[in-house]
Amino acid sequence: MYQPSEKEQEYFLRQEMERLKAIREERARRQAEEERARLKELHYLHCAKCGQTMETTKVAEVEIEVCPDCGGVYLDAGELEKLVDAHKRGPFANALGLVRRLWGEVNG
Ligand SMILES: [Zn+2]
Repeated sequence: MYQPSEKEQEYFLRQEMERLKAIREERARRQAEEERARLKELHYLHCAKCGQTMETTKVAEVEIEVCPDCGGVYLDAGELEKLVDAHKRGPFANALGLVRRLWGEVNG
C-alpha cells in the first residue's frame, strides 16, 4: 500500500488548511457585508439621538434631514459646505440684486 512521505503529507495538509482559511475569510467578508446592509436598513434616515424617522426639508436649496421629534439635523457629506457657501453668498447676492433693481428703477 502506498504510504505518502512526510513531505507529501505536509503539502496536502497545508493545501487543506489554506482552503479552509479561504472559506473562513470569504464567510467573514460576506457576514460583514450583510451586517453593514442590515445596519444601513435599520438606521437609514433615523435620528442619531432619538431614533425617530427624519423628514427631508430644503434650506438654501440644500435638502437636509430634520428630526420632527427632537429637531436634530442631519447633513450629507458636502452639505455643510454648501450651506456655508450659500450663507456667504447670501448677503452679497441680495445686495447685488438690490443694486440691479434700484439701477433699473432709476434708469428705467
Ligand atoms: Zn431626534
